Amino acid sequence: MSEHKVVKSEEQWRQELTPAQYDVLRRAGTEPPFTGEYVYNKESGDYRCAACGTALFDADTKFESGTGWPSFTEPAVAEAVELRPDNSLFMKRTEVICRTCGGHLGHVFDDGPGENGQRYCINSAALAFQPAAASAQDDGEPAGAALPAQPDSDTR
Ligand code: FE
Repeated sequence: MSEHKVVKSEEQWRQELTPAQYDVLRRAGTEPPFTGEYVYNKESGDYRCAACGTALFDADTKFESGTGWPSFTEPAVAEAVELRPDNSLFMKRTEVICRTCGGHLGHVFDDGPGENGQRYCINSAALAFQPAAASAQDDGEPAGAALPAQPDSDTR
C-alpha cells in the first residue's frame, strides 16, 4: 500500500473535481486525444496536479509527441510521481501517479526523445497549469511544500 499525504474520500473528490478531472484522477480514465486543454500549450511554467496542487512537470520538459496528450521527458522532481505496473487492457504499461494524493496522471513509455528516453504521456485533465510569472516564487521549493500540513476537513 502506498501512503499519500493528501487523502480524501471519493465523495470529497467528486465534489472538488470536475467530472473530467474525476474520471482521470480517481478512475484512471483517459481523455480522448487532442481534446485536452494543454496539448498545444507552449507557455513556460509549472504543470501541477489538478487534485492536490503539487508541482509535477516543468514546461521546459514538454515536447510535441503527436499523440494528442501533453508529453514530458521527465517529472519536475522524481519523487513527485509514483510509477506502478499497469497490465490492464491487455497491455504492459507503467502508470504514473501523483505521489502526494494518489491521483492517476497517465502513463510513461520508453520511446521519448530525451537522454533518458522517457515519454510521460499525461492527461490534461489531471493537470493545472501555472504560468511562469505566477510560480516564480516557488522555484527551488520541494514538491508539496506549499500544501497545508493538516488534512483538509472543510466540507462546505
Ligand atoms: Fe496530486
